[in-house]
Amino acid sequence: MREVTHVVCTGCSLLCDDIKVTVEGSSVRGIYNACSRGCSRLTIEVSEERLTHPLIRVDGKLEKTNMENAVRRLLEILKSADRPLLYGWSNCVSEAQILGIKIAREVRGVIDSTSSFCQGVVYLAAREARGFHTATLGEVLNRADLLVFWGCNPPETHLRHFSRYTFFPRGKYRQTGFEERDSIVVDVRESGSMKIARMPVLVEPNSDYELIETLRAVIKGYKPSKKKISGIDVSRVLSISEKLTSARFCAIFYGLGLSATKGTFRNVAVLLSLASELNKRGVRCVVLPMAGHFNMVGFNRVMLEMTGFPYGVDFHNGTPYWNPGETTAFDLLKREEVDAVICVGADPVSHLPLRLAKFLSEIPTVYIGTHRSPTMLVSEVSIPVALAGIEQEGTAYRLDGVPLLLKRIIDPPDGVPSDVELLKTLLKKVSG
Ligand code: SF4
Repeated sequence: MREVTHVVCTGCSLLCDDIKVTVEGSSVRGIYNACSRGCSRLTIEVSEERLTHPLIRVDGKLEKTNMENAVRRLLEILKSADRPLLYGWSNCVSEAQILGIKIAREVRGVIDSTSSFCQGVVYLAAREARGFHTATLGEVLNRADLLVFWGCNPPETHLRHFSRYTFFPRGKYRQTGFEERDSIVVDVRESGSMKIARMPVLVEPNSDYELIETLRAVIKGYKPSKKKISGIDVSRVLSISEKLTSARFCAIFYGLGLSATKGTFRNVAVLLSLASELNKRGVRCVVLPMAGHFNMVGFNRVMLEMTGFPYGVDFHNGTPYWNPGETTAFDLLKREEVDAVICVGADPVSHLPLRLAKFLSEIPTVYIGTHRSPTMLVSEVSIPVALAGIEQEGTAYRLDGVPLLLKRIIDPPDGVPSDVELLKTLLKKVSG
């Protein structure tokens, strides 16, 4: 039995790095500090659904094959496609994401991640609002005296958010923790977060933009002419603005409840503008997205670094081209503009609308992943890979953009490569 400390959990984008595990042989036995989701993630290698052999479709049926055949078929699909889409990447280490971008460039395909219809919209918002206001979670822990959760519910999505960084812990300048922090939770339903917030705010669905814009106007000195804004009394709107302007460090976290409702990225843009307004008035205000998959932020960072764009990049003409709505996975699949899809660390068949999932079954699709999934069932080839942060080391970016080194705790099943090893082989073959 051996003990491994400072393990980084890949259960969500909070990437808790204080996990301790005990390992016996090739199994994780004890887990300390992780939440229930983290524990499931760290023991996921023993799941019956684990993909341990490459599969290839023969006469309509999936059959076991060896790695050589699977890679050969994958290469045939990639090379014969005019416009392949390389999709997924949010559950991969950044080293794999870099290789994916290089492969997309070589085959003149399109590369996109799940962030294009999740929190990647923050980049569109930042363009409109002329920049981000951000901070690390450590800064929030040590300094924040006002926490705002808008359209998100961390107790269900990022389980240790409240206990590790926001509501409860003591910070360097917030010695009494919970007692010293004020909190506002804005949502359309009574969530768990709302129950413990000092100021719960129940808004009408799809009316967040109106409320944020009104708050911005109030902070600038205007008086609202309506009695109710977004379904709440104007007196309450004034109380929210008072809390915002009297804070010293305000951290706003938002989820899909804001960025995926009516207004989409413009809701985030107006939130960033509200933060600008507060910053102008001496309140340090930061806005952080509650990213879902553990390395969604990493994909955006790596893409920006290598192509100048955060997601959905088309290399068809040899140079990176980005036009959300045209080069993003959802839209390409909707218009049936790609002729092969390579899914890496993603299960689009489970998450996309039925028509789009059906389209995946009509074109050559390749699934590269750790577990059996509905996407595997429609794929021509499925290739198993090691679990990032458990069987494979690498880099991942936390939701605040801080890069962390993932550890390899146990060995992957026999013959199962890491996605980095697999993609290195592919890159060599497509460049040759
Ligand atoms: S909060 Fe997220 S990263 Fe932290 S232990 Fe739970 S699942 Fe893992």
